[in-house]
Amino acid sequence: MSKRFISATLLVLLFGGTGAVSCEKRNETSALDAWEKMFDEPSAEPASEDPSSDSSADPSEDEPSKDPDEDRWFKTRGIVAGWSDIYAPGNEYAIDYLKIAKDHHLNTFSVYNADRNSKAWKDYMTEASLIGVRFEFQEHMMSFLLPRSLYDTHPEYFRMDKSGKRVKDANGCPSSEGALKEVYNNAKRLGASYMPTNHRFYFWLDDGGDVCYCDKCNGLSASDQALMFENKIIEALKELDPDAMLAHLAYNNTTNAPKNVKPAKDIFLEFAPFHRTWANALSETWAEGNSGWTHAKYLRALQENLKVFPVETAQVLEYWMDDSLFSGWKPSNLKEVPWSQKIFLDDLKTYAKYGIQHITCYCAYVGPDYNKKFGFPQFLIDYADGLYDFVKE
Ligand SMILES: [Zn+2]
Repeated sequence: MSKRFISATLLVLLFGGTGAVSCEKRNETSALDAWEKMFDEPSAEPASEDPSSDSSADPSEDEPSKDPDEDRWFKTRGIVAGWSDIYAPGNEYAIDYLKIAKDHHLNTFSVYNADRNSKAWKDYMTEASLIGVRFEFQEHMMSFLLPRSLYDTHPEYFRMDKSGKRVKDANGCPSSEGALKEVYNNAKRLGASYMPTNHRFYFWLDDGGDVCYCDKCNGLSASDQALMFENKIIEALKELDPDAMLAHLAYNNTTNAPKNVKPAKDIFLEFAPFHRTWANALSETWAEGNSGWTHAKYLRALQENLKVFPVETAQVLEYWMDDSLFSGWKPSNLKEVPWSQKIFLDDLKTYAKYGIQHITCYCAYVGPDYNKKFGFPQFLIDYADGLYDFVKE
């Protein structure tokens, strides 16, 4: 059940579905269509490379002396949001995310379900860039990196299930040279269409998908197998942007640290404790979330991951404000975000204790409908201020 839930989760989060999607009948077609539409029509204007400065200025001259976060512990203070939640012109309940970002120092937006070719999106990016907001695109990408349509001609690119059959339901075989070559070429193509303005790329593997059990892959964990693909993806991205970085998402079956594969340079840890409980601080190690995941288990996994990935670039993807999660992915029946300033600040302390300096958080479904039903979501301000004002002990 939890796995079905997870699979549905990010599909809905990322692609703005309007209801729960079961794993057996995942609404992949519409999700894929949405992405392909976006990728087939790359934006005519590449995003600004240096959103924090005026477009006429030479970023290479300004950057070193203009780091506004020099004295701040949390360098990345981000949100992952749906376009219709952050952009609702004419709606009296619209939430002005740009004003919040400007006044309270949020500096990173990942927005899903926007029409990237629309004037509204381009104008929004420009306006946000002028106030120092950087854009990144956090998405599950495996079905675009290794298109399932290749299965008929190259079943060996795809994962072998436990019964010994090659299947195209998720992910692929990272021991297949052909699969890696395909992933490399597509990463380069997709990366060019979707350049982040902070050099951070997110090409997540399939959500909740199983891994390969072929002779070569057998014994390699989901985290190891993810890293094999990611090591190839970063090679491609480096050709587009020498400063490119790529997330290794530690989430669900990749939460535990890889043991047999080493990350290439500039792969950073993205730690997403999806199964924790938000009714207790992470520091309450006995607290248990979904499916037996205790906070102790998460903190151990974080520690282990930080032995493999550099701490300086490690990022947390949290859910404190994720109303899609708290509403059970039912936008027609929004529940109030159970925000606890005490728990949030305690969690920041915990993450900082491990050296984490990059935090981003879903705020899915926190839009006009939320504002209308529950009043202004003050937690957006509390979140931003909490990150900006944090002082490490
Ligand atoms: Zn394999």
